[in-house]
Amino acid sequence: MTPVYDFIVVGSGAGGATVAKELSSAGKRVLLLEKGKEMPPGTESKAYSVIRSGVEIWLAECLGGTTTVSMGNAVRSRIGKRLDPYFEEAERELGVVQMPLDKMGPVSRQILELSDEWTPMPKCIDFSKCRSCGSCAYGCPHGAKWSSIRYLNAAESSGCRILTGIYVDKVLIENNRVIGVKVWGGKSFRSKTVILCAGAIETPRILLRSGLRAGSGLFVDTYVTIGGLKRGAKFNKEVGMPFYMIRGDHLISPHFSSFLWNLMRKMGIDATPSDIVGLMVKIRDHPAGVVGIETVEKFSTEADLNELDKGRKEATGLLLELGVKEGTIVEVHPRGAHPGGTCSDLVRSPEDPETDVESLFISDASVIPGPFGLPPMLTIIAISRRLASLLLGRT
Ligand SMILES: Cc1cc2nc3c(=O)[nH]c(=O)nc-3n(C[C@H](O)[C@H](O)[C@H](O)COP(=O)(O)OP(=O)(O)OC[C@H]3O[C@@H](n4cnc5c(N)ncnc54)[C@H](O)[C@@H]3O)c2cc1C
Repeated sequence: MTPVYDFIVVGSGAGGATVAKELSSAGKRVLLLEKGKEMPPGTESKAYSVIRSGVEIWLAECLGGTTTVSMGNAVRSRIGKRLDPYFEEAERELGVVQMPLDKMGPVSRQILELSDEWTPMPKCIDFSKCRSCGSCAYGCPHGAKWSSIRYLNAAESSGCRILTGIYVDKVLIENNRVIGVKVWGGKSFRSKTVILCAGAIETPRILLRSGLRAGSGLFVDTYVTIGGLKRGAKFNKEVGMPFYMIRGDHLISPHFSSFLWNLMRKMGIDATPSDIVGLMVKIRDHPAGVVGIETVEKFSTEADLNELDKGRKEATGLLLELGVKEGTIVEVHPRGAHPGGTCSDLVRSPEDPETDVESLFISDASVIPGPFGLPPMLTIIAISRRLASLLLGRT
């Protein structure tokens, strides 16, 4: 049977949407398969999937993937010099800017005053549309924050076929060459080239179900949010993570979590979400996690716990300096929102992510070698732009 599509892309998040847009805008016939569904803007947090391993892992399974619930942080990494031009293109297209001071909330500005070590966080947010509602991680209701939905719209306009609610079960391989994918329900789609972009948890699972080896080296950039009472602060309505400071293997950044409120209520502290101020401590965790077909094992090592402890002490000091009431400080359990690394040993490099199976590529967080410790979205976009360029014979 002759393949109808030049390329099959699996997943519509940071990696999948980028590859699909680049290839279809070059006139290629692209089929994108996404297991989630399209969510109305501002409701994407309903698509959160929470994996309860040792460290709790958060991701979103819907059209646009986890980009729909991102904080809009768009940071470069240094995992390969050949990615530099692709970072530049991505920053231009996403409209990456520093957050203007007048869009920063009053508490963030007070935190800024506490140290000269803060670095502005580059944001892919159009601040002329942003209402500073603090809803980034729920899905932007104002169309201000970039998500890969924009790339998917562009891909569709160039003829890309996007099917949602389609769960890719395995890749089909003949004589060590990919020939297509099989989806739940038994149907298969054929193409000479398949690009897996199902994220760092699901891409290795597709490979494992296909009889290939994958899934070790998981990092998640483990973080905790520490916060306490500052009455009337309204910090929960400020844009999160406007700046950060890197201290060794951890970073600290202003961050609100509704879990802080639950914890304070459990302690019998009378507060509303608008009375709480918080800071995130995020570490470059040891990439010792493992993804299996049904399991995820991700525990903090002793070194991880020590690094979290260092950050916890610094963050607590900053909160007290800010005027947070002593005795009210609580800490949310360790979570990870940047799962990655689980296929990094299967590809040549993030700059050339072909596997040992001919014409089977991977272009998502799973090819980032860990430990990482930075918001990965822009890196995944740069990797995916470069891959598309390679596939189009332009690089
Ligand atoms: C709350 C939160 C805030 C974040 N904020 C930031 C930020 O500000 N900046 C930043 O850089 N990063 C941020 N991240 C992380 C970032 O969003 C992710 O690292 C990035 O989106 C991962 O891209 P990806 O392409 O690897 O996977 P995803 O974007 O997760 O996309 C994978 C897609 O594949 C689909 N899929 C999975 N399995 C299958 C299957 N079997 N068949 C078909 N489809 C499948 C999924 O439904 C999903 O749509 C945040 C994450 C969270 C949870």
